[in-house]
Amino acid sequence: MRQNPIIVIGGGIAGLATALRLAPLPVVLIAASPLGTGAATSLAQGGIAAALGDDDTPLLHADDALVAAAGLGDPTMTQRIAEAGPAAIDWLREQGIGFDRAGDGDGIALGLEAAHSRRRIVHAGGDRTGRRVIDGLIAAAHKTPSISVIEGKVLDLAMTANGSVGGVVYLPAGARQASDAVLLPGRGVVLATGGIGGLYAHTTNPVTAIGTGLALAARAGAVLRDLEFVQFHPTAIAIGRDRMPLATEALRGEGAILVNARGERFMDAIPGAELAPRDIVANAVFRQIIAGEQVFLDTRPILGQAVHTRFPGFSALCTLGGLDPANQAIPIRPAAHYHMGGVKVGASGQTTVPGLWACGEVASTGLHGANRLASNSLLEAVAQSGWIAEDIKSGTAFKAARLEQARRTPSMGQAHASLRRQMDRDVGVVRDAAGLQRAIHDCWFALTENAQDATLAALLIAVSAERRHESRGAHQRADHTRTSGTPRHTEITLTEALESARELAESRIEAMEAFA
Ligand SMILES: Cc1cc2nc3c(=O)[nH]c(=O)nc-3n(C[C@H](O)[C@H](O)[C@H](O)COP(=O)(O)OP(=O)(O)OC[C@H]3O[C@@H](n4cnc5c(N)ncnc54)[C@H](O)[C@@H]3O)c2cc1C
Repeated sequence: MRQNPIIVIGGGIAGLATALRLAPLPVVLIAASPLGTGAATSLAQGGIAAALGDDDTPLLHADDALVAAAGLGDPTMTQRIAEAGPAAIDWLREQGIGFDRAGDGDGIALGLEAAHSRRRIVHAGGDRTGRRVIDGLIAAAHKTPSISVIEGKVLDLAMTANGSVGGVVYLPAGARQASDAVLLPGRGVVLATGGIGGLYAHTTNPVTAIGTGLALAARAGAVLRDLEFVQFHPTAIAIGRDRMPLATEALRGEGAILVNARGERFMDAIPGAELAPRDIVANAVFRQIIAGEQVFLDTRPILGQAVHTRFPGFSALCTLGGLDPANQAIPIRPAAHYHMGGVKVGASGQTTVPGLWACGEVASTGLHGANRLASNSLLEAVAQSGWIAEDIKSGTAFKAARLEQARRTPSMGQAHASLRRQMDRDVGVVRDAAGLQRAIHDCWFALTENAQDATLAALLIAVSAERRHESRGAHQRADHTRTSGTPRHTEITLTEALESARELAESRIEAMEAFA
């Protein structure tokens, strides 16, 4: 009897690597836009972290990640992923991806990035690592007969009567109405839908990265973890583009400095200066901005004209905005960049719902905790894809069961501008109870009218952030500035989030009525 395929949702590094590792099992990979577009992977500039240097070990790599994670990193998972680094690079090379070599041609060149204690960042094509990686994986997938690719947007996970995930409901590319949706049964489903940056007005992510994976998993009953931890990249290039181009951290690794319009280097009084963890740099930049300053990244003192050859991607982005980094400082600001939280997964990427795995940015493995160490996410996706594929290959196939076809109105490809502005203002770099409660209240009322994935994802993040009464890692609260002594995770389900939101909305209405 022909088996149902495994369905992988997402055409970034996580989806493609999982599909390739699952061969020869039949896989249908569904991506919302043509492969190579719409995925954050293709934008990655910094590189991939792996303990390859003679002075480096996975233990040192894991230690750096745990420091960044601010008490919420899972030491076992972190060590396991760090140990998987060298093999992940080997696997990518086997897929045909060539990494930059050291000057003497002997071995892979290793770069330094913020908060890494050793040079361990592997690049492909200089700062075009993500593009090279995704192109290599797409080429490998096209050569793999077990992988079929469908362009379409997954609207819902299809559930079996016994509560496991047994397929997906997707809208093929070009179709617009819910009635055009197709039910595709699957032997298992892997979510690899990426992040949430597109929920924010200022983001480095594709604007279509609106957390549909979180919404899909939440509706299926999955537990979501640490959703409040959103990393804001401190140096998105402020040239009026939506998605904001990124000035890679590697520039600061090489010695570029941050200055305000008066030429003051405001980071030099802060431990680590420009190479402090991202949340600290983002916070310092944000505080300059709310104090009315404009902030710039200055590569001139350290790179001069060499910026064009050493960082061709950055140089090209500046040129697009009519700027020349060899002759002027480049305007920057913090922007939503990476989601540390996500769908809670176990050692093999399994979620709390049978038949559903999650890989890449949409997952919460325990590696990033409250803050991600730069260049660890591509590594995490490659490592995790191997464990997920092993788990699926060793497991028994899910029995065919009757599936319920959902009839949802397709969500927009992009979050509404007002929601994005609200996320920037109320769930942004620095939060407080008043803003978070306003966001929860507004999302709750928006959901009662239209159950958009973006609004649902925003609500889940805002409720998680409201519940964390401390500042930790990337979660900075103006009204709870201290870090509590005992680190704890925030776990939430859709039912709990909706209940919290309903209670909050009702109490606000009561307060307004009492006031009236
Ligand atoms: C500018 C930038 C630079 C970065 N630099 C680095 C770096 O140097 N090193 C590093 O480690 N990390 C970096 N990151 C982070 C890293 O790129 C991402 O975390 C990683 O690529 C995520 O991979 P992914 O496969 O999980 O998601 P993505 O690559 O975002 O892919 C998600 C896929 O899911 C699809 N999808 C989403 N929803 C649906 C749906 N409902 N139906 C069908 N398909 C859907 C999308 O179309 C897309 O194909 C960077 C991120 C950005 C934005």
